[in-house]
Amino acid sequence: RQVESKTKGKPQKQICPVVLDHFEEQYTAELGDAWASIRDVLTCPLYWQYAVLLNKFSQSPELESTLAVNGYHPAFRGSLPYLPSSFKCYIRRTPGRFPAQKHQAGKLKEYYLLNAASLLPVLAMEVKDGEDVLDLCAAPGGKSVAILQCACPGQFHCNEYDDLRSRWLKQTIESFIPEPLVNLIMVSKLDGRQIGDLKPELYDKVLVDAPCSNDRSWLFSSDIQQATLRLIKRKELSSLQFQLIRSAIKALRPGGSLVYSTCTLSKAENSDVINLILNSCSNVMPVDISQMAKAVCHEFSFLSGMQQHELLVLPEKGRAWGPMYVAKLRKM
Ligand code: SAM
Repeated sequence: RQVESKTKGKPQKQICPVVLDHFEEQYTAELGDAWASIRDVLTCPLYWQYAVLLNKFSQSPELESTLAVNGYHPAFRGSLPYLPSSFKCYIRRTPGRFPAQKHQAGKLKEYYLLNAASLLPVLAMEVKDGEDVLDLCAAPGGKSVAILQCACPGQFHCNEYDDLRSRWLKQTIESFIPEPLVNLIMVSKLDGRQIGDLKPELYDKVLVDAPCSNDRSWLFSSDIQQATLRLIKRKELSSLQFQLIRSAIKALRPGGSLVYSTCTLSKAENSDVINLILNSCSNVMPVDISQMAKAVCHEFSFLSGMQQHELLVLPEKGRAWGPMYVAKLRKM
């Protein structure tokens, strides 16, 4: 059985039936009636929306008016008191993608296209100028670029374990961040699970944007065998995520905080991992992010009944952002 997605023009992407069946069973059990409408958005790229994150290091005088003409409005403005004016992100209610910018040698890109929910982990970090920051799983670098739109860290360490993706990360940083600042960013290619021992108590803020079941992209796997293997190995992700957070805790200074995020709806990779951390690490406590969620609830749809230190963005028509799970913890 092949299920076709509804796309215009381009060759149609195919929904991978084994992944859909697997999600259908798990997410019906976990999310109940909400799953059917989430599934409709995830399986139909015609509903998908893209946010435009402006690059404060390369501003074009016409870009904001072009965005306004195309129906975009600023997101997050006015709702988050600590948001610096340098941070500018535009969204619109209608689906579609603003044209991507091609790489031009010697010229910084003016904007980054992304899922607006990807900015919530960055905003939850509340990075301030001069703080030492570690982005533990950083490629392709969207959140690293977003962190630098918010503040100018003291040390900024971006890490990515995978060789090819690490090169992609470097390219992203070079495309968005100007020369003098680029040289202050440390890019490493380490197993994030080891960084806590290699760099103990060195950072004020750590982002663990973990490897996870990427629900949106897994649904469009073109290789059924590979998809089946991924689903079998999916159970191992929770343990990797747990170890990455443990490492992040070690890398934090006392008083520092970490944000954990994934782009899956799966409870096993979200709340269950964080609960296991809270139950097994006596030196961390949950940080309330419910005010942030409340402040942006007109732009995002959240799963209700979550605890105050976590949120889960559910894609819906017109607000097709997510899936994105975010949790925040502080080291005592
Ligand atoms: N933060 C990125 C962004 O916003 O562009 C996306 C990160 S992606 C969800 C997770 C990344 O973790 C992948 O690039 C993956 O290669 C990397 N990864 C997987 N295992 C890792 C490990 N043991 N240590 C560090 N990074 C790892």
